[in-house]
Amino acid sequence: MSRLLVFASAIAFFAFASVARAEGVALTFDDLPTMALTGDAPYALKTTTALLAGLRRHGAPATGFVIGERLEGDGGSEHTRLVKAWRDAGMGLGNHTYSHDSLNKTPVADYIADVEHTDRILRPLLAARGRPLQWFRHPFLETGDTLETRRAFESWLAAHGYRVAPVTLENSDYVFALPYDDAVLRNDTVAATRIRRAYLDHTANVVAWYRAAAFQLLGRRPSLVFLLHATRLNADTLDDLAVILQRNDLHPISLDRAMKDPAYKIADTYAGPDGDEWLSRWARTLHKDLPWGSFPEPPADIVAENDRLDTNP
Ligand SMILES: [Zn+2]
Repeated sequence: MSRLLVFASAIAFFAFASVARAEGVALTFDDLPTMALTGDAPYALKTTTALLAGLRRHGAPATGFVIGERLEGDGGSEHTRLVKAWRDAGMGLGNHTYSHDSLNKTPVADYIADVEHTDRILRPLLAARGRPLQWFRHPFLETGDTLETRRAFESWLAAHGYRVAPVTLENSDYVFALPYDDAVLRNDTVAATRIRRAYLDHTANVVAWYRAAAFQLLGRRPSLVFLLHATRLNADTLDDLAVILQRNDLHPISLDRAMKDPAYKIADTYAGPDGDEWLSRWARTLHKDLPWGSFPEPPADIVAENDRLDTNP
């Protein structure tokens, strides 16, 4: 074998090995059309356009979870156009309720009526492209504080062809999002750069933590489902987020494909006040602990800035 051929085979082998080793990550974006400090239409359009262009650039499939209320009333038709842009970019769309209320704080019949309201908006929008509506994500990841509530709602979901979209990776992006909007809207590029940097550092830390925690819990590396929000911050950092995922051997896959990982068959029978992500739920089922002692917290100054700006916690 020539030296060149040996070299080429070695490269092919390492390329193969890295593909075989890489885990999948499904990107999911909550609170469509956008989550922002401002209701300004051009700002929302810019966020949406940049997010979709970034996802396309990285060949990343994503699923967006729509707050139905935003598609009606003030700005409703512009917001509907943004959600259609997600659909027409080939991204998945899911139901995130109409009013973004918590199942833990709403009678189940009212909650179902609220979800049905968004169903009536979203289903025809997808059907126009021959696509079904199949994903639901609970606001605040609150899945019911009693088993009775949980089961009542989940049987409604199943009867209407829905699957619950779990979360196994999250970076508290919402804590950084409003301070970032504030900096962008004030044209304060120094603050915007500082927040972007803090956000990416924090994300790098939490991605490493979740991968390690999942490995500790399952003894292998499962595909992850990443909860993000449809924000200007994510639109402006998508290239850097992609690098962080790549460095962690996480390659983008669809939500459907991520959920084919057998980990997502682990029972989750939690009923209680916490809006936990699914590693915590599985840890409960498996009677194991996650290494919370080493969990990276977002920087205190940004948390304080967010508390000042978030008038709708
Ligand atoms: Zn939400």
